[in-house]
Amino acid sequence: MSTALDKAAAGATPPAKDPLAHISAALFVPMGVYGVYARTALYLSVRDRLDAYISAMRDPTAEVMRFPPVMSRAQLEKSGYLKSFPNLLGCVCALHGTEASIRTAADRHESGGDWTAALTSSDLVLSPAACYPVYPIVAARGGRLPPGGLLFDIDADVFRHEPSLNLDRLQSFRMREFVRIGSPQAILEFREAWIARAPVIANDLGLPFTIEVANDAFFGRVGQVMAVSQRQQALKFEMLIPYHTKASPTACMSFNYHREHFGNVWSIHDEQGEKAHTSCVAFGIDRLSVALFAVHGLDVTRWPAATRQALAL
Ligand code: AMP
Ligand code: ZN
Repeated sequence: MSTALDKAAAGATPPAKDPLAHISAALFVPMGVYGVYARTALYLSVRDRLDAYISAMRDPTAEVMRFPPVMSRAQLEKSGYLKSFPNLLGCVCALHGTEASIRTAADRHESGGDWTAALTSSDLVLSPAACYPVYPIVAARGGRLPPGGLLFDIDADVFRHEPSLNLDRLQSFRMREFVRIGSPQAILEFREAWIARAPVIANDLGLPFTIEVANDAFFGRVGQVMAVSQRQQALKFEMLIPYHTKASPTACMSFNYHREHFGNVWSIHDEQGEKAHTSCVAFGIDRLSVALFAVHGLDVTRWPAATRQALAL
């Protein structure tokens, strides 16, 4: 069932009062559904440089993989996603069946009816975060980590069902991640190193920032308990950037410690035979790109010299 926001989608442009309205038209072309945009050449000229800047920080031992926007439904179910964020998940559905039944369903649309009633789920979901496919890939390779563990550089266009008019809350957005799988000690060192690096990144990009303990927006009443526990254990940190003075800051990067959750689910063991721990550092590529334009303006030739240098603009 679609929401009111989904339905009110035609020409989904941000409201005129939106303080980002002045940059929106130069960066995004509305595609008729809230939070779904085509990106302009100007936007891509910066986003691609941001991607290159992140690549330059990559540890040479990292394995690079780029994921499509879909992943195995069974794998995501096994990961426990439905316990945490069932409200955000998008499932790929299709018309299964005989030629006649598919024709009948499709024809319902032509006669003003609802063809979608005949849809049934396929074995795909839209990836809600870039890193979910990594763990089953490691499991499929035997699930035993080499000495020192593993490091991945991944990205995907991800989907979250959270329709919004705000440019910093998209339904379809790019997520880049460095994912570390290893012993608890290796994982904590990895995350600490990236949290320490965050101020350097923000300074390179000329963006004001704070780094704070955070929690995920887990679903429902049980979710509130999960959020409190996540916060108490300081499992998630975020780098927050205000897009303009008076704006409440937007989470543009997250530093996540999953403990042994994925090691347990996928039977991944470290070199000592203990359940592997995992951590991911996520760059919200779209939020960071919007932050750059919101803070520095649309004319990249007038951006601060240090920012231009960092992004090789
Ligand atoms: P999370 O898994 O929620 O920590 O998300 C990782 C990163 O993706 C966040 O730090 C944000 O920068 C970005 N992000 C999350 N949700 C959205 C959204 N709705 N629109 C754009 N970027 C998002
Ligand atoms: Zn992740």
